[in-house]
Amino acid sequence: MKSFTVCVVGCGYVALVTGACLAEIGHHVCCVDNDQKKIAELQAGKIPIYELGLDNLVRRNVKKKRLSFAPTLAAGMEDAQIVFIAVGTPPRPDGSADLTFIDAVAQEIAVHLKRYTVIAEKSTVPVETGEEVERTIKHHNKKGIPFDMVSNPEFLREGTAVQDFLHPDRIVIGVQSKRAQKMMTDLYARIKTKLIITDIKSAELIKHASNSFLATKISFANSVGRVCELVGADAKQVTEGMGLDPRIGPSFLRAGIGFGGFCLPKDLEAFHFISRQVGYDFELLRTVKEVNEQARALFVSKIEKALQTLEGKTIGILGIAFKPNTDDVRFAPAVDIIGRLQARGAYIRAYDPVAMKKAEGVLKGVHFCSNAYEAAAKAHCLALVTEWPQFKGLNFARIKRSMTQAVLMDGRNLYDGIKMKALGFEYHGMGRFA
Ligand code: NAD
Repeated sequence: MKSFTVCVVGCGYVALVTGACLAEIGHHVCCVDNDQKKIAELQAGKIPIYELGLDNLVRRNVKKKRLSFAPTLAAGMEDAQIVFIAVGTPPRPDGSADLTFIDAVAQEIAVHLKRYTVIAEKSTVPVETGEEVERTIKHHNKKGIPFDMVSNPEFLREGTAVQDFLHPDRIVIGVQSKRAQKMMTDLYARIKTKLIITDIKSAELIKHASNSFLATKISFANSVGRVCELVGADAKQVTEGMGLDPRIGPSFLRAGIGFGGFCLPKDLEAFHFISRQVGYDFELLRTVKEVNEQARALFVSKIEKALQTLEGKTIGILGIAFKPNTDDVRFAPAVDIIGRLQARGAYIRAYDPVAMKKAEGVLKGVHFCSNAYEAAAKAHCLALVTEWPQFKGLNFARIKRSMTQAVLMDGRNLYDGIKMKALGFEYHGMGRFA
């Protein structure tokens, strides 16, 4: 099978996994980043993010000289046949995607083109960004070196990113030339899955529409949960019953405190924004966002109701990462919830198995604990925010003994309410009466 020389721009969650996995399937990959500290760490063998299996993958491929890291695009693109753009596309205050990093990289790529190159968008971008990037590169490509734009959106999930990349449900390739199509299909030849070959705009839309649909499913489950609470039904069982229908499916169909992270919230907003901009107000997406915000507000008001007041109360928080098995706290529900609790006068003790270092960078006035038991000690309420599997097997008899008031607020419906009540807790789930 053909081996390519690849440059991946960005050394974040997506770029590092993309680079390491492409090296693993036999390509020669150089990852570059303009964060020189990150590059120095990577060159010293340190991985700046927590992602299951990534350490070993990076180490193995660096040793085999298939993976390297460089501080400049000039060095990274030296022999590159394919360049992936995998930099961040954060949200702007108006909800649109901030494409500043993409634009800066496009300008730089244009200057360093040496031979025919495929430029692949890996970052999640609004529809028509590919066209814009192509225009930018053409404008700065003074020598007129040939290149082709490709959209190759990424569907990996943090926490299982390496597995997801190597064993994906599908690979989407938006292309406009046979030459680029052949190179991209050869690049992924070792990965056995369904290939969707389409045009660039459709590929861009597949990603935005997929993430917005997943967000919609979560908000739907949360709305069902609201009805369940009002009538005394159990959302956990209702959504389980719904999910068994193969037309619905069980994933992303659980009532709780909603979605967060660096993908769903910003992609939902950016999709809404771009839809409006091209002439369609995709109103459903606005509601999805509102329901998500309500879920967090509801969680905080449930704690307040159980304790009568939050002023001077101590709340133990279990989990800060936006979901289990990652250290990523960007747009994590915990960050928002902790802020709301603090604003009402609560004192926070928090613990997360791997996200503590990143959390320390974004949370102020929080007492960070070294384990779950320490977070619960002397608390008036213990609030489960991220459903790390290790939180399931905690010794709750011990936890109850250490708490000032035994209120357990289960934001992810992880626990058996009946068992928790039998242990003496005042238990509250989401969309459940027990
Ligand atoms: P990230 O913030 O972890 O990484 C982005 C990296 O790009 C950073 O290391 C930054 O220093 C680097 N960078 C910025 N400007 C640069 C430049 N001019 N030159 C070189 N490097 C530069 O972001 P991420 O989570 O990896 O997300 C990247 C993109 O992938 C986003 O568009 C995101 O929506 C998309 N995506 C993310 C996920 C996910 O689970 N995180 C999944 C699928 C798609």
